[in-house]
Amino acid sequence: MRIVVTGGAGFLGSHLCERMLAEGHEVVAVDNLMTGARENIAHLLDSGRFRLLEHDVTKPYDLPADRIYNLACPASPPHYQRDPVHTMLTSVLGALHGLELARRTGARFLQASTSEVYGDPDVHPQPETYRGNVNPIGPRACYDEGKRAAESLVMDFRRKHGTDGRLARIFNTYGPRMAFDDGRVVSNFIVQALRGDPLTLYGDGTQTRSFCYVDDLIDGLVRLMEHPDESGPVNIGNPGEFTVAELAEQVIALTGAKVDLVREPLPVDDPRQRKPVIDRARERLGFEPRVPLREGLARTIAEFRHRLGT
Ligand code: NAD
Ligand code: UDP
Repeated sequence: MRIVVTGGAGFLGSHLCERMLAEGHEVVAVDNLMTGARENIAHLLDSGRFRLLEHDVTKPYDLPADRIYNLACPASPPHYQRDPVHTMLTSVLGALHGLELARRTGARFLQASTSEVYGDPDVHPQPETYRGNVNPIGPRACYDEGKRAAESLVMDFRRKHGTDGRLARIFNTYGPRMAFDDGRVVSNFIVQALRGDPLTLYGDGTQTRSFCYVDDLIDGLVRLMEHPDESGPVNIGNPGEFTVAELAEQVIALTGAKVDLVREPLPVDDPRQRKPVIDRARERLGFEPRVPLREGLARTIAEFRHRLGT
């Protein structure tokens, strides 16, 4: 099949492109390289079935396609808050242009949505039926509300035009190839530990997250895309829940680093807790996260060590 992956030069996108090529497909990554990198996809060029279209998805594009995975959007809070207006436009216009392409070509479309649609949740853990607690005027709104608007576009294209759009709500995912300057907690802690710097703990570290290893996440996305009739929204993630302080302890133990923790202020609207209910993914998609946090961290640390040359 002809697979389009927007955001294909980013962290998740590059793993998805790799998986699609391994399955024998032709893949085009559409990416403006804002937070992605050529190095993430350099090894894919040899396949002869992969190319990068350098393009900003806020502008329309045209390609032959059987499947469109719409992943283009900066995902880390410091990155998506750097140019918040562009982040909002990327979510909304990026989804619109991908859906228009799906409508023209008859391709299936999958939107990379996010646990951020639940905001700072007052229901715990979060099932897909929970409608969320998002601050529409805070610094995270450019991302959260952009992603919520994208979900609504997917549903309206379905109702209005019969476009086969699917919604994956992705929970915190980590793994090899995250950018050192990404700014998210797992990559920050690993880079800091390997460099012998103190780990930056925002707030008191009691806030929780559920961390999913990248291979598990990609498996969930592909299962959703290839399911005959499940369109979601479906939570995809690992329901193991850890405080950020526990994550710091694990990274320190696994790296063997002799480093301290340094407290920094908790960012505005930082969610207190987050854990997916994944019953729907389990029952409908046969999805099961297989890589526990400790093992996923060990694999990620090994790859970071290699890239850092430590
Ligand atoms: P990433 O920042 O590594 O990748 C995003 C990619 O999109 C980059 O290659 C970037 O250059 C590209 N991009 C950004 N704006 C673009 C634009 N306007 N036009 C074209 N390309 C553009 O982030 P990631 O972690 O790989 O996230 C991928 C997708 O998954 C995002 O949509 C994100 O919202 C979603 N998601 C990720 C997580 C996670 O934990 N990794 C969680 C929830 C949702
Ligand atoms: N965090 C932290 N130190 C860091 C980066 C993040 O303590 O160096 C915290 C952050 O405040 C949040 C959690 O870790 O509570 C996850 O943050 P991340 O940016 O990875 O993702 P998100 O907040 O979008 O879930």
